[in-house]
Formats: sequence, C-alpha cells, structure tokens
Amino acid sequence: MSMYGQVFVKNNQYKLKGVFHHLTPNTPIRNADDGWKLMGVTNPRDMTYIHSYGGEAIFFESLSQGKLLATRCDNPDCETSGTIYIPFRIHCPDCLAKNTVIDLTDIAKKTARVHTFMTCARSGAFNLLDKPIRFINIEFDGVATILMSYLSIGDPTIGMKVVPIFKTCGPTFTILDLSWVPKGTGQGQLPEGFSF
Ligand SMILES: [Zn+2]
Repeated sequence: MSMYGQVFVKNNQYKLKGVFHHLTPNTPIRNADDGWKLMGVTNPRDMTYIHSYGGEAIFFESLSQGKLLATRCDNPDCETSGTIYIPFRIHCPDCLAKNTVIDLTDIAKKTARVHTFMTCARSGAFNLLDKPIRFINIEFDGVATILMSYLSIGDPTIGMKVVPIFKTCGPTFTILDLSWVPKGTGQGQLPEGFSF
C-alpha cells in the first residue's frame, strides 16, 4: 500500500488507492504550575484532501507544459464581450456564459509588468516558497484583470517588466508551477525545474 493516498477518475467516479489518513499517537497536556496534573491531550491529524479543479484543470495542466492560459467572453449579446480574464475564469462574471480559453503566453512574455507588490518576511503554515516571498500583481496589455503571483529572482519595483517561468520539470500541478523573473534573466539563473 502506498504511504500516500492517490486518486484517479474512471467511469466518472473517484478511484482511491493508498492511505488517506494516518493515525499519530496523542500526547498528554500537563500543567507545570500544578504538579503536572493532566489538562488534556493533543490529537494529531493528518489527512489527504481531494481537491477537484473542475473547469480550471486545463489551466494547471498547461502550466506544466509552459503555457499560460486565460479566458475571454465571446458572447455577442454580452455588454463586456471580448474582455479577457486572468486569473482563469470559467464563466463570464457579467453574462455567466462559458468563456473561451485562450493562450496568453506570448502576450505575457511581451507585455507583463508589475502593477504592485508586497514582500512577506513571514508566512503561514504549509508555505513552500523561500522567504522573503515577493508577491507581485501583474498586468498585461489587453487584459481586464490583474494576476497575483510571485517573483523568483530580484526585487520587484512598480512597472518592472517581467516574464513568466514554468515548472515543466517535476511540476506540482498547483499555482506554484507559475512564477516570474525580470525580463532579460538567463535560463541558467532560473530555479530548479523551471524554464521559460
Ligand atoms: Zn459575457
């Protein structure tokens, strides 16, 4: 049996393999100020959550292939028809029609720039990024929305030209497979597993 729970879909059903929860022994909580009397117990819990990407799955699959996808409303009856969205919106927020998936990789490489940024010296639980984390909000020509991501090299400034990089080697199939570096960065400087 696998130490990790694994899932695939067949006949429109989840098929589960491996162990989805691990029992870890509890430990007593005692009061040091009162003769180490028992106050309670810890209850360690470790479980695997099954997170479905639904209509966004193609976005994450494409990151692993070095492509950045966006969506566009093509409904001729929509007041905001033609508007391009990234983050990837499955449906148009105005007419609720299903959006068209478009490849934004070239536009990102040519026009992406830092709209604003924040640098975080601390993080929450389960963070996988190196600290300080340089979160950047990215704008693109012709796109109505702004994308939140992280800069892998250098310090961000407002207006800085950046280009996307993709974790095509050993992808995690999460948003962490997409990162950004200043325009002009060489392939040799990229973090492990990433390429342009
Ligand atoms: Zn629309």
